[in-house]
Amino acid sequence: MTVRGRLVVYVGPMFAGKSAHLIAAAKKQADVLALKPGFDTRDGSELVSRDGSHLAAVSANVWPAEAHRYSHVVLDEGQFWVSPHYRGDIVQDIQNVRAQGVDVTVGGLDTDYRRIPFDVMERLRDEADEVIVLTARCHVCGAPAAWTAKTHDTGHLLETGDQELYEARCDAHWTLPEAALKRGSGRG
Ligand SMILES: [Zn+2]
Repeated sequence: MTVRGRLVVYVGPMFAGKSAHLIAAAKKQADVLALKPGFDTRDGSELVSRDGSHLAAVSANVWPAEAHRYSHVVLDEGQFWVSPHYRGDIVQDIQNVRAQGVDVTVGGLDTDYRRIPFDVMERLRDEADEVIVLTARCHVCGAPAAWTAKTHDTGHLLETGDQELYEARCDAHWTLPEAALKRGSGRG
């Protein structure tokens, strides 16, 4: 009988070091398949962390058929593995490969810039053997920051970006982007 693979989930805001943790976890094993969302063309075919570590990764918008041949699958930006960027149910795909004995480590944002949870990350947390909650440093005061804030409203919910678009913020300093506040609603 195959022992079911472990699922470890790293969650937190942007700038919390999720990619660095994923890369460190991946480097503990020799046969690792690292996956990044197909539309995320930043950094080419690598996972890159802000501390400078990097790892060869495959961009995917369907579950790779060869994944079960690895002992460990690492998947970054878990919140993006949903329609229309991903064809299939990533939670089920991960469960299937775990049933074949493959360990899986996922990193992702737990909430969007409006502090609304990403469903897919909640589902993965529910299935996980271990959930590690990371914090960043508040861009304003340096305190532990659990939230991602968008510095200006672009009208898109799922969007890649970096310091030009997002900042980590603590409870006291988190706000919606100005344009969303003017509309009187955080749902945009
Ligand atoms: Zn703060």
